[in-house]
Order: sequence, then C-alpha cells, then structure tokens
Amino acid sequence: MKSRFKALLVKKDGNAQTVEDVELSPSDLMDGDVTVAVSHSTVNYKDGLVLTGRSPVVRKFPMIPGIDLAGTVEESSNPNFKPGDKVILNGFGLSETHFGGYSELARVKGDWLVPLPKNMTAAQAMAIGTAGYTAMLCVMAIEDAGVTPAKGAVVVTGAAGGVGSVAVAVLAKLGYRVIASTGRPEEEAYLKALGAAEIIPRAELAADPRPLGKERWAGGVDSVGSKTLANVIASTSYGGAVAACGLAGGMDLPTSVAPFILRGISLIGIDSVQLPQPRRRQAWERLARDLDLKKLESMTTTIPLSGVRQAAADILGGKVRGRLVVEV
Ligand code: NDP
Repeated sequence: MKSRFKALLVKKDGNAQTVEDVELSPSDLMDGDVTVAVSHSTVNYKDGLVLTGRSPVVRKFPMIPGIDLAGTVEESSNPNFKPGDKVILNGFGLSETHFGGYSELARVKGDWLVPLPKNMTAAQAMAIGTAGYTAMLCVMAIEDAGVTPAKGAVVVTGAAGGVGSVAVAVLAKLGYRVIASTGRPEEEAYLKALGAAEIIPRAELAADPRPLGKERWAGGVDSVGSKTLANVIASTSYGGAVAACGLAGGMDLPTSVAPFILRGISLIGIDSVQLPQPRRRQAWERLARDLDLKKLESMTTTIPLSGVRQAAADILGGKVRGRLVVEV
C-alpha cells in the first residue's frame, strides 16, 4: 500500500469553503474494514453541490468529496472481500460523513461495497455511477408498478443529464417508446441515438401545472422535480406510475391529489444513498444486462481528478451532457 496518496479535501472556515489538493497517509483515513485503491470516480449533481458548497451536503469537515468510487481491494478484514477484488461504492454517506472517492485510497465498510459486475470495467461502472444506478432504480420502480412497453410511452425529464441519459438508453433497450424532455434542443441527435423516439422541449413541462392534463404517457422518470414533475404526473395515463429521484429544477411539488384519486397513478420516491444491498445489487446486475455499453460510451466524457472543480460548476449549470468519469 502507498505510504502517501493524493486526494481532494473540502475544508470549512466559518462560512468560507475551500477545496484543496492534499497528500495524506493511510492513517489519515476513517475507520473501515476494507481499504480500496481507487482507480475511478465520477461527478454527479450531488458532487457538484458538495464541491461548490451550494447545498449543505457535507456533515463533517474536513471531508474528502466524491459520492462514488470504483477500484481494487488492497486490504480487508471483512470476510466477503479479499485483496484483488474489484468493487464499486455508491453513496452510503460518502462525502457526507465518510471520506469519499476523490482519493487514491479509501477505507470503507465492506457492507457498503458491491462487487464489480462481470464484463464491466471500473471505468464503465463510474460512467454509470450513482446517476446511472439511480436511473436503473427508477426503471425498476415503474416496472414493479406495472408499466410495460405495451401500456404506453415513458417520459424522461432532464434527459440529456446523467440520470436522464442512462434512463433513456435502458428504457429504449427494454422496448419502451421513450419521450425525452430536454432544455437543450442541440442534443436531439444525441438523445435519438440513445433511443429516444420523441423529443419535447423542457419549457413544455415547466409551465404552471393543471391538476389533470391529456394522458400522454404510461410512466415517467423524473430528475427535475417542481412544476416539471407536477406536469409529468398530470399527463400520466390511467394506472400509470412515475419515479421521482431528483430536484434539478427545484424541491417543491405543486400538484394536487387529482391524478392519484381520479387516475390511480402512483408516484414512487427513489433513494439511492441508503438503499439496502439486495436491491442495489439487483440494479447493478440489471445495468450489466440492460444498458448497451456502446451507448454508455457515447454519453461519457473522461476527466482527470484536477478537472472535477470545473465539472462541478458545469453540472450545476446544466452544461454536462450524459456522464463524467474521473480518472483518479
Ligand atoms: P445532471 O446535471 O447530469 O442532469 C440534470 C438535468 O436536468 C440537466 O442535464 C438538465 O437536462 C436538467 N435540468 C437542469 N437544470 C434544470 C432546471 N432548472 N429545470 C429543468 N431541468 C433542468 O444531474 P444528475 O443526472 O447527476 O442528477 C439529476 C438529479 O437527480 C439531481 O437533482 C440529483 O440530485 C438527483 N439524484 C438523486 C438521486 C437519489 O438517490 N434520489 C441519485 C442521483 C441523482 P436537459 O438539459 O436535458 O434539460
């Protein structure tokens, strides 16, 4: 194991937050029963919130940010992992209360780790990252609620973003007619290549919502929230289901009970951070099967660790297309 390793460190002094490049030693790491040599991480929307300090995500300072990591086990006293095992970690308090993935070395609880699926590299796993794994959870949720390709289309909001891009690609591969909502008309060709059948402008779903609208889709995957989610719900057809995972457009939800009591639709909340292991592993197995790796490649940009600060600002500005992989 390296005696010194590189990491990013978020520090807070009063109200001022800084993100510094540091060199640490293994004894600086937090407690855990597995030590991982991190090869890749990623930048999700939440990483953007942490690195810019825009939302109070970090609960312990100083903190190594990065909610995701992938790498190889170096040391383990956990019976389920041994040196050389390839692993992934999404969430579970990383970058909130426990040192995260923007670090060459991580010491974590083995209970948080997922084995890297066969036929997937660490870089591909981070191209998926929390955003892609959450997209899969959304797809699984609407499937469980009975939304099948035969019932009708599925709308994906924030479609050119990380959650959205993976959701579009997976739903299309599963045979759904995907309607992609985006604020970036220039990404129409990109979204169609991922499998979207129809593109609708973001503004169409950002208008003041009515309690009920025309029935346009059987399901929805929403990473935007606020009026967008309210409009998605209002246009979901009888018996349909919408998975809500994000707040890129706002935390509020100005809707009414009408779609629930008159159309029997379901709104399903998705959390990826504390999700228990069985569903987590199921989602990763599904991703290994139901996400076309060529499409994943087409939505991925690779950056060095030194690029995450700029990427953080870009992702909050809605400027990142698809997914970012960080070479640690
Ligand atoms: P991205 O920034 O990659 O994607 C978000 C997309 O939303 C943007 O690309 C843009 O898509 C759209 N968007 C951005 N700003 C606005 C706005 N003001 N109004 C409407 N649409 C907007 O982020 P991620 O995909 O990583 O995350 C998406 C959301 O999901 C975030 O809120 C994140 O916190 C949440 N999330 C939640 C998880 C959970 O466990 N519940 C896990 C992972 C993510 P376009 O340009 O196509 O319109």
